[in-house]
Amino acid sequence: MTFAVCSITSLCMVSLSHAAHSTRDERKMDITKEHFGKTNDGQDVDVFTLTNKNGMKVKIMNYGGIITELRVPDKDGTMGDVVLGFDSLQSYLAGHPYFGCVVGRYANRIGKAKFTLDGVEYKITANDNGNQLHGGLKGFDKVVWKAEPVKGKNSVSLKLSYRSKDGEEGYPGNLSAKVVYTLGEKNELKMEYSATTDKRTVVNLTNHAYFNLAGAGNGDILGHELMIDANRFTPVDSVLIPTGELRDVQGTPMDFTAPRIVGERVNQKDEQLRLGLGYDHNWVLNRKGNSLSLAARVYEPTSGRMLEVLTKEPGIQFYCGNFLDGTKIGKGGKVYKYRYGFCLETQHFPDSPNKPDFPSTVLDPRKTYSTTTIYRFSTK
Ligand code: BGC
Repeated sequence: MTFAVCSITSLCMVSLSHAAHSTRDERKMDITKEHFGKTNDGQDVDVFTLTNKNGMKVKIMNYGGIITELRVPDKDGTMGDVVLGFDSLQSYLAGHPYFGCVVGRYANRIGKAKFTLDGVEYKITANDNGNQLHGGLKGFDKVVWKAEPVKGKNSVSLKLSYRSKDGEEGYPGNLSAKVVYTLGEKNELKMEYSATTDKRTVVNLTNHAYFNLAGAGNGDILGHELMIDANRFTPVDSVLIPTGELRDVQGTPMDFTAPRIVGERVNQKDEQLRLGLGYDHNWVLNRKGNSLSLAARVYEPTSGRMLEVLTKEPGIQFYCGNFLDGTKIGKGGKVYKYRYGFCLETQHFPDSPNKPDFPSTVLDPRKTYSTTTIYRFSTK
C-alpha cells in the first residue's frame, strides 16, 4: 500500500525507511514512560506505553488508569487505534464519559445512592438522577494512581495502586485497590483487579474502554457483529436501575447468544431499548464457576478485527454509546458522534448492594477481592 501512494522516488524511500525503522522499534516487548502533564492540583501524570513483538501497543496513564490508545492489526496487518480518547491530559481533565478508565469503587449504578450494610445505612454521592454512577463525583477514574512498570520474561505490566479513604464518596472502609495491566506475546490485554479493606464495604471494579474496531472516530459501531454468552439480562427501570428480575433474552432484541449485527435491532420498538435509549444493559453471563471464560465476541467486517472479552465476573454491561453526541473532539481531531463507540464492562450486576438476590459485592476485612478480565484481539 505504501508503494502505491509514492510518486517521487526519493520521498518514497524516506517514508519507507522511516516506516521500517519505527516498525522495528515498536516490535519488541517493552514498557516506556513519558510525562503527560499535571492535574489541576499539581500531581504529575505519566503515560506508559506497552508494546509486544507483534507491534500491538497500549498506552495507559496513571490518571484514572485510563487506556488512552490501543493499536492492533487489521486483517491486512495495518495497525489501528481502536479506543476512543484524547490527545491531551487537559481534555481528560475537562470531563468525558469515562473513556478508557478504571471504574470504582463501584462500577455502574447504585439506586438512590444508598445501601445498608450490617444495619448501617451509607449515603453515597449521587451523580445520576439521584443514583450513583461509576463511583460518584470523584471515582477511581479521576484519581492519580501510583504506577510501577514491570518487565517480565514474556510480558510487560503496569501495576497501579490507589488507597481510597474511609468515607470517600460515602463508602465505608479504607480500601487498597490494585489494577495490573499486562500485555504478553499474544495480542491480549489482561486486567487483574484486587482490593482489601479494613471495614466491610462494597467493591465492583471494571474498565470502561470505548471500542470501535474500525478505528476510533471512523464512524458508528452499528455494523459490528456481537455475541454475548448470556441467556438472561437484568431489565431496568426508567433511571436504569435493575428491577431485580433476571429475564430471558429469547425472542427479544437482547438476544446475542448467536452473533448479531448491533444496529439490526437497536431501534426496534422495545420497552427495554426505549428505557436504555438503546443497548445499555447488564447481561447475566452463562459462565459457571470462578475461572476465566469467554463472555463476548465482537467482529468488525471491514477491518476484520475481532475482540473477545474473557472474564471471571458474573455480568457484562453492553453500552452502545447512546450518550455520545459529537461534542467531544478526540484524538487527531476526530469527533465522537452518536454511537461511535461501545463498551463491554465486565462486572457484578448494577445495584447489587440493594439486591440481596444478586451475587454479593460485599468485601470483608480479612478477604481479598480479586478478579480478572482479558481483552483479546485477533482478525478473521
Ligand atoms: C453506563 C451508561 C452511562 C455511561 C457513561 C455506562 O457504563 O451504562 O448508562 O451513560 O457509562 O458514559
